[in-house]
Amino acid sequence: MPKKTTTPNKKRTRARSGSVDKAAPAPEAKLTEYRRKRDFTRTAEPEGGGSRRAPKLVFVIQKHAASHLHYDLRLELDGVMKSWAVPKGPSLDPAVKRLAMEVEDHPIEYNSFEGTIPKGEYGGGTVMLWDRGTYTYGGTNPDPEAGLRLGHEKGDFKFVLSGKRLEGSWALVRMGRDRPGKPQWLLIKHKDEYAATGSDVAAEYQTSVATGRSMEEIAAGQSRVWHSNRSPTQTSDDQVKSTSSKPQSKKSESSAYQRLMARRTR
Ligand code: MN
Repeated sequence: MPKKTTTPNKKRTRARSGSVDKAAPAPEAKLTEYRRKRDFTRTAEPEGGGSRRAPKLVFVIQKHAASHLHYDLRLELDGVMKSWAVPKGPSLDPAVKRLAMEVEDHPIEYNSFEGTIPKGEYGGGTVMLWDRGTYTYGGTNPDPEAGLRLGHEKGDFKFVLSGKRLEGSWALVRMGRDRPGKPQWLLIKHKDEYAATGSDVAAEYQTSVATGRSMEEIAAGQSRVWHSNRSPTQTSDDQVKSTSSKPQSKKSESSAYQRLMARRTR
């Protein structure tokens, strides 16, 4: 697909229409210094302005047993999920660089998909929700969304994950732009308190972050389970987590995620 040349401002207006960005610029400007002095990925102090002012972007990682097992990393940007297929999955070891093949953008609604794609269809196989949550820009551009967009274009995409299994600072770095085929990137964990030398996080977590099911259970299960995720008022987690010993807070985190998703896909 040819690169779009739409100006960032125009895209931003479209992507955020309906939010209050334009309605309240004055208080925001007054918080600039307060925010500049703090790293909100490290401090529990409020960022100010509430979620309306600083909408978090969502991310998801889906473990996908297709013809070849891989992990689909999807990061929301400009109303779609930018997507990479990572054959070996993420690593928390900053010395380990994982190949990530850029694939087509996916709709945001895809984030709640867990189940099976029929054999013979594109991507046929089992899909597990392996991790999900929100992410923020990890670079230095004063305009986070512009920074993310520019980073993606330039092949240096810095982001900070806040998931259930993955957290902290990461980068996707594009390799050799001129080679034919899918753009190839490297997924790299930055050194921070969430980095772990020698860890194998992809092997460590073998169950769905949403339903607690194994790949085998998803493959054998009914599609109904994930469909119920569509409604934030339903507690699908209660039904499917009956064998799970996860604390109650996990459920409310999940509900908060579902509410966020509902806003995103409206
Ligand atoms: Mn896939």
